[in-house]
Amino acid sequence: MGHNRMSITLSPTRLTSRSPITGAVIGEYPRTSREAIHAAVARARRAFPGWKRLSFRARSRLLEAVCALFVREASQWAEAITCEIGKPLAEAYGAEVGASLEALRTLIRQGASWVAPQRARRNLQDWIRGVQRAQLIYEPVGVIGVIGTWNYPLLINLLQISSALFCGNVVVWKPSELALGVAHRLDDLFQRAGFPEGVFTTLPGDAATGEALVRAGCDKVIFTGHGQTGRRILAGLAEQGIPAIMELSGMDAALVLEDAPLAQTIRAVRWGTMCNAGQSCVACRRLIVHRTLAPTFVPALVSAVRSLHVGDPRDPATEIGPVRTPELLNRLEWLIHEAVQKGARVLTGGHRVDGRAGYFFEPTVLTDVTDSMAVLREEYFGPMAVIQEAGDDTEMVTLANASAYGLGASLWTANLPRAEALARELHAGIVWINDVIWSAADIRVPFGGVKGSGFGRVHGPEGLRQLMQVKWIETCRPRGFRPYYFPYGQAKVSRLCRYLRWRHLGRT
Ligand code: NAD
Repeated sequence: MGHNRMSITLSPTRLTSRSPITGAVIGEYPRTSREAIHAAVARARRAFPGWKRLSFRARSRLLEAVCALFVREASQWAEAITCEIGKPLAEAYGAEVGASLEALRTLIRQGASWVAPQRARRNLQDWIRGVQRAQLIYEPVGVIGVIGTWNYPLLINLLQISSALFCGNVVVWKPSELALGVAHRLDDLFQRAGFPEGVFTTLPGDAATGEALVRAGCDKVIFTGHGQTGRRILAGLAEQGIPAIMELSGMDAALVLEDAPLAQTIRAVRWGTMCNAGQSCVACRRLIVHRTLAPTFVPALVSAVRSLHVGDPRDPATEIGPVRTPELLNRLEWLIHEAVQKGARVLTGGHRVDGRAGYFFEPTVLTDVTDSMAVLREEYFGPMAVIQEAGDDTEMVTLANASAYGLGASLWTANLPRAEALARELHAGIVWINDVIWSAADIRVPFGGVKGSGFGRVHGPEGLRQLMQVKWIETCRPRGFRPYYFPYGQAKVSRLCRYLRWRHLGRT
């Protein structure tokens, strides 16, 4: 990869990327050695003081250069993402390239105001002490290690990397072994945009590379991936006292209330479950449908799902492409088998698509699921919805919250005030009312989960602030009145008692 070519020695081991469309090898990439990872972190640390001193404006100029390259190369990017990940072209153009550009431009325009210094209002103590000015400022943290995933190989990684760089941090990025082609392109693009040596480094590799990065002395880590991996990484970071933002698995519920407009809700929920072949962390996998609506909703959903166009994602008409790996196919089959053994019914789909070399699975709807089944308890990636029915709002919320995860949730209804009240009851970092997923790509929206879905936020003011340290700067006049200094004595104690009575008497 770009930076590594110049200054990182690579281990002889190489990794291959296989096409999910054909199963064929489509790329071979070097795996970064442990020594090279340590060298990259050391180089990043050396680059930090210079990068940190630049203004937001100056750093933004390089991100503007990134945007310009994306605009020029949009088609190549979309095609590369579709070929490596298998997502339909419409999604590669819209949810990856288009959404990334939108987010970057918003970050450049608004980001500095999200982390602007805050002046504190002076209080009585400040007047007495001669505090002239007190302010909270935000400073970059240092070396941020980004350990990334593949399901939005451009959008998620680019936004995390750009946010960290924008704030004045330097970044070492370990991309997913399942998106090394896209990672290679991104590394090359950043190099062409003119980032200074050491400010951004890509470390191609697999889980072992990620483990080595966790031990390489970053100042903070952003991890996006499975809950299990996240907990393992956290254990390593905790030993070293290194903080982290954890963007983990989800098992989002869609609560379909009895007054939800049928046609629109079916169109929306079908997309929310099945787009990206169901491989979004915020896919609405669990559909909790009001019992009175279920007899019309469920058959209509099943027939809408049957009409989806499954095929080669390079064909613009395709709506459902393959899943990323054969292991995901095996897992879907196992989950369905286990659920059916325990009483679930497959209303449509349920099998891998025959006669194809790639990793295609039929869009699937499962009903009569219970929490004894793994399909309801554990996150899965694939085009599959599981349906539960509930009799009222309380039961819906109880079912939705009966999950180890809490990333997103959605509510579908014509009654907006009722939905807003219910939204407050849901265990989630984001709740959509009559929409789903899309604003996860909006960089103004703080994104992240609760419970097993992780902690910390990326994006928005909350997300940027987590990529910075806060510092309180208090400026006092040299000759203020400082009654708390030595010497102590009876006179001081009596004065303090009088002061306390004067200041607080009558307030309790
Ligand atoms: P994963 O946990 O297998 O891998 C994620 C990254 O961690 C990869 O780069 C991998 O190489 C690395 N890694 C694996 N083991 C490691 C270890 N022991 N130490 C250090 N690094 C290690 O997950 P995945 O299959 O790439 O991604 C799918 C998961 O990501 C799903 O659970 C999905 O919900 C989640 N996800 C979450 C969000 C979010 O924002 N919350 C977004 C996208 C995906």
